[in-house]
Amino acid sequence: MRANQHKGKVIIAGAGPGDPELLTLKALRYLQKADVVITDRLVSDIILEEYTNKDAQILHVGKQCGKGASTPQSTINELIVNYALQGNLVVRLKGGDVSIFSNMLDELQVLTQHSIEYEIIPGVTAALGASAYAGIPLTARDYSTAVRFLTYYKADILDNAYWKELAQTNDTLVFYMSSDTLDALVEKLTANGIGKDKHLAIIEQATTPLQNVYSCNVHEYAKKWGNTNYVSPTLIIIGKVAALHQQFQWLNNSLSKENYFNPVEKKRRISVRA
Ligand code: SAH
Repeated sequence: MRANQHKGKVIIAGAGPGDPELLTLKALRYLQKADVVITDRLVSDIILEEYTNKDAQILHVGKQCGKGASTPQSTINELIVNYALQGNLVVRLKGGDVSIFSNMLDELQVLTQHSIEYEIIPGVTAALGASAYAGIPLTARDYSTAVRFLTYYKADILDNAYWKELAQTNDTLVFYMSSDTLDALVEKLTANGIGKDKHLAIIEQATTPLQNVYSCNVHEYAKKWGNTNYVSPTLIIIGKVAALHQQFQWLNNSLSKENYFNPVEKKRRISVRA
């Protein structure tokens, strides 16, 4: 670590959804120069072990939807600010893209409050990684002209009028952080009249060697996959395009229920090198 009286700099970078080769060259260049890397749980260990400066200090912070270890955002903010104020080049590495269902806004606010210089580097978000590795063109011509990134992690975040519109639209719907509520989600869409031509693709651990895709018509879901416990992280794609998986899948299911991403607690035990 570098410590001097000059302010450091923070690079907020996306690591992509799993496959380490989906990292951008720009993020890679900064990881190779970093003094400190503050990383989320959904980042491949290979990126940290093989592509990051061997002398960098690596700190695992992270959240897992209320399960297991979770670092409060205020602590993450403090870590970023303190290391930067000590003059370090800090890479704040986030799974997928930096701005999709992440707390980037909080981090930007504290950085500007402390007048710390920063750059933002995008990453391949889970929707784009999962759809590519499942062979699903998200806005295929004649199927869908738009795609929406959504979440349904607790019962009351979407109102009835919104559910009706979601059930009726031809837009492709991508749900993040919603595998625990999937049974209820499908029930809401069917109760609101979702068409017989709509399909579901449920993609576990997308882009990793442990990827599994479950796919079926939305109306068959409850019978076929209802009550399934999906391995985290899981992404859900709903729409006519989800049926294209059957025809264009190019990866076999791993059929494994192992975790590609270790829980944060375990990572903390095996990480921190200074
Ligand atoms: N910033 C991230 C999303 C963070 S929210 C991004 O842009 O991808 C975390 C959610 O993202 C998970 O609950 C899951 O729905 C989704 N996700 C992230 N990585 C995934 C992966 N490899 N496979 C499937 N879903 C993933």
